[in-house]
Amino acid sequence: MRRRVIAGNWKMFKTQAETRAFFKAFAPLVSASKHCDIVTAPPFTAIPAAVEAAKNTNIVISAQDVYWEKEGAFTGEISTSMLVEAGCRYVIIGHSERRQFFGDTEETVTKKAKAALAAGLTPIVCVGEHLSHRESGQTHKVCKTQFDGGPGLLTPDEFSRILIAYEPVWAIGTGRTATPEIAAEAHKFLRQCAAEKFSSAHAAALRILYGGSVKPDNIKGLMAQEELDGALVGGASLDPKSFASIVNFTS
Ligand code: PEP
Repeated sequence: MRRRVIAGNWKMFKTQAETRAFFKAFAPLVSASKHCDIVTAPPFTAIPAAVEAAKNTNIVISAQDVYWEKEGAFTGEISTSMLVEAGCRYVIIGHSERRQFFGDTEETVTKKAKAALAAGLTPIVCVGEHLSHRESGQTHKVCKTQFDGGPGLLTPDEFSRILIAYEPVWAIGTGRTATPEIAAEAHKFLRQCAAEKFSSAHAAALRILYGGSVKPDNIKGLMAQEELDGALVGGASLDPKSFASIVNFTS
């Protein structure tokens, strides 16, 4: 049985003070939750405040991106050891916004994932098609290209330590969620890619999160699908009550 993960991606929202206020409200609401791992990904500057606020709770902290070099003249970038020192346990890699606005490619996703794994971080590698791809029947082709050129290039051992987030771009921040059946079908396809590239054991153990307008009112339906091993939540993770009710979808 794969353990579920509910992760919140705050994107470029929340100052340190807002982060502390969030955790003060959120931590007690999820303290009894045992059915899933709970992850929050604040912006870089709020990571230390989040790590401090999440101490002695069941919440762990993720970064939203990382650079693959150890150190050097890479203005604006953050290394894996900086994230580890700050207390991060996870890092989101290849989010569609990074691909769309900041030039992430399959190649950089692989480099970032390898560096993160070498530092002991758990990468959440995002893949997913645009609306035009889905409408022209290219969803599988796009997901396979992103899988084969990204996580598919990891070693079997590395691959066994990552999570994948299936995030159809047309559902991110649009309020338009994939139906549970659409999401499950894409997850099944990605699992098949993992079986072909690695092994059926790797595929069976792989945790695939769904992301795209997950809200308190649709999480239950999504999680009823066996293929969905959790969720990557954007907008609805910013409010403590709404994120807590997503985390506590079983109650
Ligand atoms: C995301 O940022 O990964 C995301 C899925 O956003 P939203 O939940 O707002 O669609």
